[in-house]
Amino acid sequence: MTGAGVPARLPGITDVHVHIQPWRQLKPQVMAAMRRGKEDHWEFLLALMDDPKALLDVMDRAGVWRVGLVNYPSPDLMGFTDETNAFAVRYAEAAPERLLPYGGVHPRFTGDIRGHVDELLEIGVRCLKIHPPHQLFPANAHTQGMQTLGALYQRCEDRGLPVMIHTGTSVFPGARCKYGHPMELDDVAVDFPDLTIIMAHGGRPLWMDEAFFILRRHKNVYLDVSGIPPLKLLEYFPRLEEVADRVLWGTDWPSPGVHEMKRNIEQFLSLDLPRQVQDKITRDNALKVFPVS
Ligand SMILES: [Zn+2]
Repeated sequence: MTGAGVPARLPGITDVHVHIQPWRQLKPQVMAAMRRGKEDHWEFLLALMDDPKALLDVMDRAGVWRVGLVNYPSPDLMGFTDETNAFAVRYAEAAPERLLPYGGVHPRFTGDIRGHVDELLEIGVRCLKIHPPHQLFPANAHTQGMQTLGALYQRCEDRGLPVMIHTGTSVFPGARCKYGHPMELDDVAVDFPDLTIIMAHGGRPLWMDEAFFILRRHKNVYLDVSGIPPLKLLEYFPRLEEVADRVLWGTDWPSPGVHEMKRNIEQFLSLDLPRQVQDKITRDNALKVFPVS
């Protein structure tokens, strides 16, 4: 099947990982890294961050029904403040069925974790993003005395809020890539067995074997394939079909190296995977994690 066959019916394709964020808050050196390679359409992308209609247009052209708007505070490294949560929720109001706001609570800067998680739920956040290389702690820091992180996982487990955790490297200045190791999710999945954990990027490009191990071991862990060049997906995860019930489509667009939502989906649909597996990954699994409310 090719891109021409993108299903028009609803529910359709969900891209669980799109970076619609308050980019104007980016620190200058981070913004420079973000802008590299996108000089010719930088103004369009900046405007897109203010205009949900422009994003819905891009989604329509790509045949994408829903997207997850990835947001998380990282004031000291990226420049994103807590305002990122209100930003995501406000943006999603333009089309609540098609735009899923994600948010975050920073365990290094927040005391009242439970209160903050509850607040995010109240304003409509659908997923809590943790970015260890940008928030500067390992994903299992709760086992090393970081009580705020343990409280965060606990509250999300209790309230049924999925947590997305970045794994793999990051190109932004100041990022600590060692915190992107997927093996640290083992502790999270063991300690919070009812927490829905979305392992973003499958440890790419260094730790795919570890990511696959985590995925097979823990039934509460999902793989979000964003940031992996789609044509390389089966090289990175040759046994993808074995875990097809817990794989989620995502692009990471418009992060560095991800040029087009549409081209990515076309390339994914051109892979030698059964139609049923493609449907699970692009549509059905996301409906389980993010039911239509
Ligand atoms: Zn991302």
